[in-house]
Amino acid sequence: GFRPAQRISAIGVSEILKIGAVAQRLKREGRPVIVLGAGEPDFDTPDHAKDAAERAIRAGQTKYTILDGTPELKAAIADKFRRENDLVYAADEITAGAGAKQVIHNAFMATLSPGDEVILAAPYWTSYADMVRIADGTPVDVLCRDHNGFRLDAADLERAITPRTRWLLLNSPSNPTGAAYSAAQLRPILDVLKRHPHVWLMADDIYEHLTYDGLPFVTAAALEPSLKSRTLTVNGISKAYAMTGWRVGYGGGPRELIAAIAVVQSQSTTNPSSVSQAAAIAALTGPQGILVERRAAFQRRRDIVVDALNAIDGIVCRRPEGAFYTYASCAGLIGRRAPDGAVIDSDSAFCRYLLERHDVAVVPGSCFGLAPYFRLSYATSEQNLREAVKRIARACRELS
Ligand code: PLP
Repeated sequence: GFRPAQRISAIGVSEILKIGAVAQRLKREGRPVIVLGAGEPDFDTPDHAKDAAERAIRAGQTKYTILDGTPELKAAIADKFRRENDLVYAADEITAGAGAKQVIHNAFMATLSPGDEVILAAPYWTSYADMVRIADGTPVDVLCRDHNGFRLDAADLERAITPRTRWLLLNSPSNPTGAAYSAAQLRPILDVLKRHPHVWLMADDIYEHLTYDGLPFVTAAALEPSLKSRTLTVNGISKAYAMTGWRVGYGGGPRELIAAIAVVQSQSTTNPSSVSQAAAIAALTGPQGILVERRAAFQRRRDIVVDALNAIDGIVCRRPEGAFYTYASCAGLIGRRAPDGAVIDSDSAFCRYLLERHDVAVVPGSCFGLAPYFRLSYATSEQNLREAVKRIARACRELS
């Protein structure tokens, strides 16, 4: 019979996907479910990116490209890093893959040996831990607390570092909490890393363009240039340009690392889609006005959700600095009873109740490593959001 590899035996199908499947089933049954579980913008890919893809197809750009990105794409990425992040990377210090996800996966495959540790700031995007495990590494969780704005505490980081630590993975703004670091908040963390030269830093900047209330985005290698020679700066077009399906992400880092990443990619997927690379060039070099417009739209949505959630007895939600998620505590609801007598004894039970009885899909905090919370993605229309928070309020009122 079938026998899975050791390295995937500890990795299950994510609860997020299970919730998505239930939501889809309820929808098929005709229920008006509002899904606030998705990690992708509801906006459309910009027309100039679509046009560039069409032109690329007609022009015969339908063959293999250079493994980790065409010279044109690498030039567009280098220009982006210089323009937006004050970071200078040469072409051989840049890699492009099928999404930021592939870049992160490649980096772990290229650097981790059994027993090597990767420090993750919990709660975190669930994929991180499983990507570390698939590369035979060991994820080490360091909890970021609500009262610290869900940011990593420098002393906690220092305590977690061992001789086996290879990477700290930092994601600002964060999925799932929306927490982002100002320069002053990032500084103490980078100071710890400076004292531990064997630890490399992976900065997942995928939500860079989604910061609110004027908070300037900062990335580690720019803030602390002495760390640049051991930092991989990861980014992509998925969230900024609403291009999740095109599958292009990229990273900038030291050339030895970039070369090792190319080795991994050369024996797995080869180049990212040639057509998608053309679209990515257009997105990165074309008009950037949509970034500002969409940021404003997301900030309005965030405020609608945060204000409404905080008005509900039993729910407390901090106002996140970025991304398109809120991470709200439902501690005040634990122990209450649903009308059918079922006890809400966990965030999972609360999310099940919301979905099954009130047609709203959100993801329990237990999926991300900090409970009892739930993650709500506000990457949907204001109308949907207003209706959804009304339903959540009603659902909570019906608990006793
Ligand atoms: N990093 C984080 C924190 C994410 O939330 C996601 C997508 O959900 C990704 C990376 C993956 O992005 P990409 O579509 O570029 O693979």
